[in-house]
Amino acid sequence: MSETVTLTIDGKDISGIKGETIVQAAKRAGIYIPTLCDFDGVTSPGTCRVCTVKVDGRAAAACKTRVAEGAVVECDTPELNELRKMLIEMLFVEGNHFCPACEKSGNCDLQALAYRFAMMAPRFDYEFPDREIEARPKKLMIDRNRCVLCQRCVQSILTENDEPLFTVSNRGNKAIIEIDVKKADGIDDELAQKAMDICPVGAIIRKRKGFSEPIGTRKYDKTVIGSDIQG
Ligand code: SF4
Repeated sequence: MSETVTLTIDGKDISGIKGETIVQAAKRAGIYIPTLCDFDGVTSPGTCRVCTVKVDGRAAAACKTRVAEGAVVECDTPELNELRKMLIEMLFVEGNHFCPACEKSGNCDLQALAYRFAMMAPRFDYEFPDREIEARPKKLMIDRNRCVLCQRCVQSILTENDEPLFTVSNRGNKAIIEIDVKKADGIDDELAQKAMDICPVGAIIRKRKGFSEPIGTRKYDKTVIGSDIQG
């Protein structure tokens, strides 16, 4: 039988299952913790830090920190929300995120978080990167200029033989996402769509499916990100 612990998030008592993360426990309790890299069924790589909370007064990534008996977690505070807004602004300037021209607009977690945290013009200079676009696979393309390196695709998109389709090459600010073109040409439409859906931005795009879901009917066109799990 799973062992439970009791902790508080923003003053609310919740129970967590020993071994699970604060993000997972919060979600079950109907508390939204913003994140870009964490995703159901994926071991979070903890890359984005948007889920930063304070645990007993110390900053910690909620997607990598396990629940603990008596832990006092702060999440929805002006200080932490300002930090999240800054992180989102940094992601915007480090890539080329031209929302009106992006197929993922309305279904993009980064765009939705920018709305949630009322981002206007980023406080940092735009870098306008010029990373190579990978357009060789028959069903998918990767625009690396929109990639936030969350690694959701690396963790969750596997071929029939359980081999990763996406990998990371290089390190630091030279890191980019690669796709195995040969394996990619063997995937079915369902996996291609899953890859596009799991990407929190518009970096993975299906070919020949442009704008099949009209603007105005997309996930975040009328609903704020996180509102589905707010209690
Ligand atoms: S391609 Fe998308 S899912 Fe993959 S690392 Fe980049 S942003 Fe994340």
